[in-house]
Amino acid sequence: MRIGAHVDQADPLAEADARSAEAVQFFLSDPQGWKAPKPRADADRLRAAEVDLYVHAPYVINVATLNNRIRIPSRKLLLGHAHAAAEIGAKGLIVHGGHVNAGDDLSVGFDNWRKTFAYAAESGGFPLPILIENTAGGDNACARRLDALARLWDALSDHEVGFCLDTCHAYAGGEELLDLVDRVKAITGRIDLVHANNSKGGFNSGQDRHDNLDGGTIDPELLVAVIRAAGAPVIVETPGGVAGQGADIAFLREQLGTGA
Ligand SMILES: [Zn+2]
Repeated sequence: MRIGAHVDQADPLAEADARSAEAVQFFLSDPQGWKAPKPRADADRLRAAEVDLYVHAPYVINVATLNNRIRIPSRKLLLGHAHAAAEIGAKGLIVHGGHVNAGDDLSVGFDNWRKTFAYAAESGGFPLPILIENTAGGDNACARRLDALARLWDALSDHEVGFCLDTCHAYAGGEELLDLVDRVKAITGRIDLVHANNSKGGFNSGQDRHDNLDGGTIDPELLVAVIRAAGAPVIVETPGGVAGQGADIAFLREQLGTGA
């Protein structure tokens, strides 16, 4: 089980070293912005690295929305990130499930996801696995609760789609962690990556506020049980930089008995 952290994009391999991480996740552009990613000068070094790389797509992306002025640029930005992530040898591109606006029909949101994959297919398809991540908040989300996730997977049944399970988002989103992995896999058939985070917000609070693994409102033992059951690579997106994330990684290695 490869364990790592979400790190700054300037020098991800140095960040991995500092945390003894076997995997890193980072952004390729401003996560709050619409700019396409620029080619990286260190692309060759990243491709050759022993550390597994994951790219997180910008937060502004929402391919589900009925708002054309967000949905259309979101599709383009997602595909642009997919090519840039493939260029550096990333194992997957993580993107949030997105949502529709209040009063809009969620089933159109699921169909917009299908159209996103159809749009990519027109130019040869996504060049690396797209991992859709569950989210914590909102009443009109495509991947907050598992009933919505099931409808999303149904809409995407003609396409190859991966899943990223965020433990903070699941708990704060209102899904019990006990047996969560079985319930998710019954829908998706797979978990490609775990975002291992404790939660500052309580159960079903809808708050996307990550905490270190032994802090927060989730029992750390339960967290470890979910991560073990998932059997997928793990990225911590926890606070505290090198010290905080390094401690979280060490904690997981100790609890999971994976060594380093
Ligand atoms: Zn996450």
